[in-house]
Amino acid sequence: MYRSPYTKGPVIITQRFGAPGNYAAGKHTGIDLVGQTDKTIVSSINGVVAATVYNDKSYGHYIILKETSTGWTFFYAHLSQINVSAKQTISIGHTIGTEGSTGNSTGSHLHLEVESSDWAYNRNLIDPAAVFDFNKFTNTAMAANLVLWSQDHDSWISQHLMTYLACPGMPYDGWNASKYPAARVFKVGGEAASGTLLLSGSNQEQTAKTVLDWIAKN
Ligand SMILES: [Zn+2]
Repeated sequence: MYRSPYTKGPVIITQRFGAPGNYAAGKHTGIDLVGQTDKTIVSSINGVVAATVYNDKSYGHYIILKETSTGWTFFYAHLSQINVSAKQTISIGHTIGTEGSTGNSTGSHLHLEVESSDWAYNRNLIDPAAVFDFNKFTNTAMAANLVLWSQDHDSWISQHLMTYLACPGMPYDGWNASKYPAARVFKVGGEAASGTLLLSGSNQEQTAKTVLDWIAKN
């Protein structure tokens, strides 16, 4: 298992690998992480910096690291700052950059991808959850609030609630209470679920109204 890309927890997962959505590949090709107390991003591997790139339409400031022992590549995107340069040798724990929201991104997060080869878009992808012990570093402390949406059409009003609470969110079907703990977990849309506070209506508009009413009262 590779070490956390963050120097300290807690870290929340806001989008899992393979989730469907409005992505160029038709699915999410990495995992999204949000550091709750620290935004410093460090190398999980011993290797070399294969590239540092800026692309304002897609991944913003991003870094590709190549692990010496396996030849695997580790891709860190949407960084606000990059602290390394191409061809530089790096070791585990070396600070490489800062979590950010550059490129096509709606909020500060780290988009992390792993490929079992040189990096090529949407090729040889590995689910980061298979090689990082996210349980270990997402469990280090509890987030105050977490918003879950039951279906894609409830995600926009969920974003509104996340902005109001300044908290992360994720699709309900990717959530697991022990993996992504929070003092208060909201479920937007759908049916009641244990461990969550349900904000739902009979349709999309009624769900939105329920959320807005809750915000007005809190
Ligand atoms: Zn992502």
